Amino acid sequence: MEQTYKLAEHFISINGEGQCAGELALFLRFAGCNLRCDWCDTAWACGKDAPHTVVSLSDLAKIAEDAAADGVRNVTLTGGEPLLQENIRTVMEQLCGMGLRVEIETNGAVPLEPFIGCGAVFTMDYKLPSSNMERFMQTENFALLHPQDTVKFVCGSKEDVLRAKEIAAQYKPECPLYLSPVFGRIEPAEIVEIMKSERMGNFRLQLQLHKFIWDPMARGV
Ligand code: SF4
Repeated sequence: MEQTYKLAEHFISINGEGQCAGELALFLRFAGCNLRCDWCDTAWACGKDAPHTVVSLSDLAKIAEDAAADGVRNVTLTGGEPLLQENIRTVMEQLCGMGLRVEIETNGAVPLEPFIGCGAVFTMDYKLPSSNMERFMQTENFALLHPQDTVKFVCGSKEDVLRAKEIAAQYKPECPLYLSPVFGRIEPAEIVEIMKSERMGNFRLQLQLHKFIWDPMARGV
């Protein structure tokens, strides 16, 4: 029997974050998450009963093929937590094999080791104190990241920014480090001031483009 996956939604939009921010991407959002971050903006896709469609590998390949035919070169697997889907590596390999740039948005609470070498790039969150989820972070993942990957520190407070600095100094991941403000919780300007006073020249501030282009609560964009 063909393997199936729980797809919460799919759509084409721009990448709002990461190294290809601003480029068109196909988003495949999978249902279910093993965390419950305090400020989650996709909580609807996280629970056991999250609305989803059951799709096969060939369904996903067809969606990607259609997007590629429309000139889309990036596909982002997101959630929820996409790496919780059984046999998701097969999807990653299939999409990479189609010549797409495959990016995995993962929450830092799933070991990356089983997924290394499949051709996808990772944007891995490190959950900071304001999320209430820091205790679930799999810090051994840091050693598996490469320059094409990204670590994203979502910051809701000054304490979070200082903790991001501490974590980066401790684990020294070999990839870009992004600070991303929780919309409505901390002003980007405050993060810049902290970056200056704390000499955080190895970080980049990034704003979630979607929150500025569309309604901050809009789905499917
Ligand atoms: S890991 Fe992401 S999807 Fe899961 S609860 Fe946290 S913010 Fe939401």
